[in-house]
Amino acid sequence: MTNRFACFFAVFLTAPALAADLNDAVRKDYDDYLADLFDHFHRNPELSTIEFETARRMAKELRDAGFDVTENVGGTGIVALLENGPGPLVMMRADMDGLPVEEKSGLENASRATQTDPITGNTVFTMHACGHDVHITSLVGTARQMAARKDAWSGTLMLIVQPAEERVLGARAMKDDDLWGRFGRPDYALAFHVSSSDVAGVINVSEGMPYAGADTVDIIIHGVGAHGASPHRGKDPIVLGSQIVLALQTLVARELSPREAGVVTVGSFHSGTKHNIISDEAHLQLTVRNTSEETRNILLNGIKRIAENMGRVAGLPEDRLPEVIVSDESVPPTRNNAELARRLKVAWADSMGDDAVVDIPTKGMGAEDFPFFTDDPEIPSVYWAIGGTPQKDFDTEMAGGPPVPSHHSPLFKISPEPAVRAGVESTVVALLALLQE
Ligand SMILES: [Zn+2]
Ligand SMILES: [Zn+2]
Repeated sequence: MTNRFACFFAVFLTAPALAADLNDAVRKDYDDYLADLFDHFHRNPELSTIEFETARRMAKELRDAGFDVTENVGGTGIVALLENGPGPLVMMRADMDGLPVEEKSGLENASRATQTDPITGNTVFTMHACGHDVHITSLVGTARQMAARKDAWSGTLMLIVQPAEERVLGARAMKDDDLWGRFGRPDYALAFHVSSSDVAGVINVSEGMPYAGADTVDIIIHGVGAHGASPHRGKDPIVLGSQIVLALQTLVARELSPREAGVVTVGSFHSGTKHNIISDEAHLQLTVRNTSEETRNILLNGIKRIAENMGRVAGLPEDRLPEVIVSDESVPPTRNNAELARRLKVAWADSMGDDAVVDIPTKGMGAEDFPFFTDDPEIPSVYWAIGGTPQKDFDTEMAGGPPVPSHHSPLFKISPEPAVRAGVESTVVALLALLQE
């Protein structure tokens, strides 16, 4: 068996011995420590930008592991550094926010936590419905392993605990807080996401684009209110909004090249108060996904053109046409550095076995704010997925049973064992491969 670690560890451990040693150590740390920590995070999710207790706990855990910790970077973000001689600076990021979802997973440790939603002001249930509890627990496990293995690597390790990924605000906020200026600009950047659509424990890594680019768009339709029995006296924004929703579907179907991926989803359509009143306004909320700047421009320009012109079709005056507002909550696609991805694949296969590493292209157009760390200036990066669903759950679905719940669903559930363990092990293997003089 060949192993790129063999040369570094020849004096200490052979490659298979190292792999076995790491596997045993992570298994033991999971049983003794990380399982309880995961349970704590799972029961106590916090919403984007107000992850105060989660951040406090993460700062303590990383300090206890021996890292130099700075809190309140870009809001509740944390930067933890471990300097260990000459060599590269390598960054690993974990996002920590939960979602305003009431957990209905049926799990014994299901969250019953609530918080005041900073967007609506309402008290809402909170849930780790995207699995970020796996990410932060794994980050603590990684910190503990790397601190215990300082003779096996050289350089500086930077662990980032990021707020507000779900609102794609946190990475940008940390960058805007002079992240690289204050703590150094990494030579490599890494991150993973647990995935309910991959088999628990596997590493799914692509040499291309694991995540799409995303824009958040609002359309405000100004109508003219009237009695529901006198439509000729008004301009009905619900009818106009419906026409806009349907017309938008032609953008992907008829304007994008059939080999180019894009999504236009109208996720929310609000208007009106009562059966017999024609409302004077409608509000549409859209998510728009792309795989390139060119696709993005076609979709965003198309939305504006369709919304405004459908307003003209309805006979609205020029100063009352539908307004299209593209939010700042926008992210570019996440692109892996192909060479780095190939390098890490070899390291993972050597250490964790060929079967543990797969490259299954994603079918969805999920997005991430990780590229705010890596795009400008460009930092070679790899973003991988760790499977979180037992094979038997996929088998049950195939046999006509309940489908495997998706991320953000109230039914979402991840098997922390082995997902947390695979998260720690894959991260440590990647870091040991990169953190060499
Ligand atoms: Zn999510
Ligand atoms: Zn997520």
